[in-house]
Amino acid sequence: MTEIAQVGIVQRYDEGLREEYRLKEQEVHSDKFYDSSAGSCLRKRILQRGGAAKFSADLQDLRTFRRGNTVHEEWQRMLAKTGEIDLDSEGKMLLEYRLEDETSVGRLDFVSHGLLVDIKTQAERAFKFTRGEGKPKSSHALQVGRYALKLRAKGISVSEARIIYVSRGDFCDAIEYAVPLTEDVLDAAREDQAVENRAWSTYRATCALPLAIAPTNKEDYWQCGWCQFARRCPSANHEKNKYIKAQEAEGGNNHGLEKNGRK
Ligand code: SF4
Repeated sequence: MTEIAQVGIVQRYDEGLREEYRLKEQEVHSDKFYDSSAGSCLRKRILQRGGAAKFSADLQDLRTFRRGNTVHEEWQRMLAKTGEIDLDSEGKMLLEYRLEDETSVGRLDFVSHGLLVDIKTQAERAFKFTRGEGKPKSSHALQVGRYALKLRAKGISVSEARIIYVSRGDFCDAIEYAVPLTEDVLDAAREDQAVENRAWSTYRATCALPLAIAPTNKEDYWQCGWCQFARRCPSANHEKNKYIKAQEAEGGNNHGLEKNGRK
């Protein structure tokens, strides 16, 4: 019997995911803020940029990342194949396109006929909620607003974004929401950047972190349950944080903590 037959195919797959993650974490990461974190917990954004140690992603995370990447690749490949992707002034496709300014970086999914497109995959429950809301999440609108500002700085004008939500339930269901890139939306994106930049200046000068999300903040407190930086956050949702719970179930050792690799 071969080793793979003894270990099992599923375990081999999971080992592959772990190895991919290990290699990715070894890459040099940006020392700036990420546009994809727009609107999220400010304390977490500072810890991330500051290079704080964080819990390793678990297998559930890794499988979810992989599925998300697969959906992105599929949508992008289909549109790229039909020649629907716009080009920048140097003829480079606006596809998985890196955008950067002095303090933050982002990578947009693609721009097609002047539409800035961002694809999100969501677990079934979240997807149903998003459908019920009838509009995109405000943090996602901030994210595309930040991309639009960076595109504008490069002389590329986009007047509307489309946020596509794909259900991870059966992968067949998708919703498309339009976000007109009005001055109000762009101002909100500018303010989101300004807030994180002010918090960063304070942190650099005094080591003071922004306030944690209060448990009474029903709209945002869920983030604490999934936060990889929860060990650095005294007011974290310890009962609910899945990394802390897993660590405590294993006897409270710190093996899950990893260095936050950034340049
Ligand atoms: S545990 Fe909650 S408040 Fe603390 S950094 Fe994470 S998301 Fe923010």
